[in-house]
Amino acid sequence: MNKRILTGDRPTGKLHIGHYFGSLKNRVKLQNEYETYIEIADVQALTDNFNNPEKVRNNVREVVLDYLSVGIDPKKSTIFLQSMIPEIAELTVFYSNLVTIARLQRNPTVKTEIAQKKELFGESVTYGFLGYPVSQAADITAFNAELIPVGEDQLPLIEQCREIVRKFNSIYGETLLEPEAVLSNNKRIKGLDGNEKMGKSLGNALYLSDSDEEITKKVMSAVTDPNRIKKDDLGNPNICMVAYYHALFNKENHKTVCEECKAGKRGCVACKRELIEKIKEELTPIREKRKYYEDRPELVDEIFVTGTEKARKVAKETMKKVKKAMKLDYFE
Ligand code: SF4
Repeated sequence: MNKRILTGDRPTGKLHIGHYFGSLKNRVKLQNEYETYIEIADVQALTDNFNNPEKVRNNVREVVLDYLSVGIDPKKSTIFLQSMIPEIAELTVFYSNLVTIARLQRNPTVKTEIAQKKELFGESVTYGFLGYPVSQAADITAFNAELIPVGEDQLPLIEQCREIVRKFNSIYGETLLEPEAVLSNNKRIKGLDGNEKMGKSLGNALYLSDSDEEITKKVMSAVTDPNRIKKDDLGNPNICMVAYYHALFNKENHKTVCEECKAGKRGCVACKRELIEKIKEELTPIREKRKYYEDRPELVDEIFVTGTEKARKVAKETMKKVKKAMKLDYFE
């Protein structure tokens, strides 16, 4: 049996090319090597969208469509919905006794995210948001996931999960599997405006489902070297987002793009047009596959139901073991 991995996304928006290059392409590869579970983390999405449940609900299907469109294969990957696995919520309650408030407050990932949510939380963060590493530990352990692919910034969350597992096992007996983080080489993809982060709220994202017109409009207004006015001005591709995206979508020509830009032998409009064609080449088959599933909602429902049923079976088994270890196995 291959090792089991758990990954997932919060359904707070359609997925963009940051997700594509950052994690989705890797997942498509991993599903051939590992037993893959993919969680649509709607409960976790509510920790900072509790006042906007429609947003979370509406994006659940969008995220699944994005998965299927890039090649996540439901025969190889189990796609499931977090809120439909009540054992995760139950485990979260049990684990909350094993972690202190101070430890959660010290978690670097949580600290950074709380700082970014000042507008929502003001001076005092909610119990649910502060505790999301605990619910993440429940996600991971509910499915006996052995490996968790993460970016460097997520490592403290996995460490926190490992601590919870060790504490649980030391108190109640060897029950849970301690997961390992697998550092994915995935880099964060910058926005069209040059911002380090790509995101809906920043208005700088290129979505997997964008139409040809949207791709053209967005690339045409991407940030380029501001000092280049005429075609023969010597350019600096290092400060140009068009050059940056050529490296992603037009790898084989990226070197030439940069050399011609530096030598003043490339016009920005032509350079953008070339990039637009390359992006279209990559995204058209993805959009076509999305359309196939959009036109067959019952097929998407079936993928969801089958995946969630399979995941729930595993979570129920874990819960049985956990309750036995905690002496909560009444009337069995
Ligand atoms: Fe950017 Fe291309 Fe213009 Fe150079 S020629 S500044 S790489 S758009």
